[in-house]
Amino acid sequence: MPTKTVATINSTGRQAASFIRAASAVGWHVKAQIRSNEGLVAEELAGLPNVDFIEGDLTGPDRNSLLTGLFANVKIAFINTTHWGDEVAIGKACADAAKKAGVTHFVYSSMPDHSTFGQGWRALPMWSSKFAIENYVRQIGIPATFIYTGIYNNNFSSLPYPLFQMELQEDGSFVWQAPFHPDDPLPWLDAEHDVGPALLQIFKMGPNHWKGQRVTLAFEKLTPPQACARFARGLGRPVTYRHGPLKIQVPVPSGYREQLALLQETLGDKRAPYFPGLEYPREGRSLWEGYRGMEEYAREVFPIEEYANGLRWMEEGAAPGEGGVDDDGARPVTPSAGSGVVSVQPVRFSGAYTPRSHPEALDEDFFVGST
Ligand code: NAD
Repeated sequence: MPTKTVATINSTGRQAASFIRAASAVGWHVKAQIRSNEGLVAEELAGLPNVDFIEGDLTGPDRNSLLTGLFANVKIAFINTTHWGDEVAIGKACADAAKKAGVTHFVYSSMPDHSTFGQGWRALPMWSSKFAIENYVRQIGIPATFIYTGIYNNNFSSLPYPLFQMELQEDGSFVWQAPFHPDDPLPWLDAEHDVGPALLQIFKMGPNHWKGQRVTLAFEKLTPPQACARFARGLGRPVTYRHGPLKIQVPVPSGYREQLALLQETLGDKRAPYFPGLEYPREGRSLWEGYRGMEEYAREVFPIEEYANGLRWMEEGAAPGEGGVDDDGARPVTPSAGSGVVSVQPVRFSGAYTPRSHPEALDEDFFVGST
């Protein structure tokens, strides 16, 4: 008989799925909202003990009855909203349903609104919607904790997605080009590996410990060249950071294009901290010591994900030497070439992430974005 019942939404997403695996493993009962029980992650979760799916679309007209069913007999919840649909309305509806059900610990996956810091920074729209939900949750007074999740290691791909493309070079090395200044630290997280165990610990310590707090889930604090050095060690190939403007080479939704442009302006040009005022990685590591760092990710996961995406560079042998750059050493950096987001000719590739259900998805090479 499970000791605890927890509710999740968007349960096939990387954050919720990681938590569901951990909660099921310790014998908790999970009520997991999903849009569809098709797909690899849904099939995997369906096979876990004590996981019940609550099927339905949070963007649809039945949202409120779906949420009433989800929160029935539930006292704890992990809510990670996404940009599908009206994110703020969905987040508020979750909070209202949780309050009505008497939820005693509501963990919400938030993000900062840079415009609130009085520094002349503009908000990143896909983050400020989460901050608006955080404020609503605080306002209605449910015992709540807000996790701030760092940049997922597995955003990296050699496919031509914006922001985190590890671009394969002819000699087998990789180049990551991004607008982040090479001296600015960034928060890193292996979402699939580490969200679950850290969240489990937050729930176990409970609302008395964590009520009202922001917890940064980032297990490494690395500048872009440091991240490339770890990546190079893991892969056994040179990996170089190039400080340069964003390249958009695949169709992306208009909202994600705006997000990327503001990310370049606020975090790149104006050099605002990724998580202003938040401490990391000490707090995350104190919750969960067994995190997967960038080096381990690059060694053990990146080639497998690339292979699953139809890429075969890993069979072709590494470039000579380990290469990369030292954490503290001289770094090959190309100065940023202007501040505009660069749109280049769309390229075609196979195995891409193309949810056709997105209202703007007309093209098979459509990248919905998640950062
Ligand atoms: P994910 O990107 O792994 O998966 C997206 C999920 O959205 C899937 O489960 C999909 O089923 C679901 N979805 C919901 N409504 C949908 C619809 N109408 N059509 C298609 N799919 C739909 O999910 P995740 O990473 O757990 O969460 C995404 C959120 O995390 C985003 O809001 C993103 O801003 C935030 N985030 C991402 C990063 C990062 O580095 N990638 C870091 C911090 C926060």
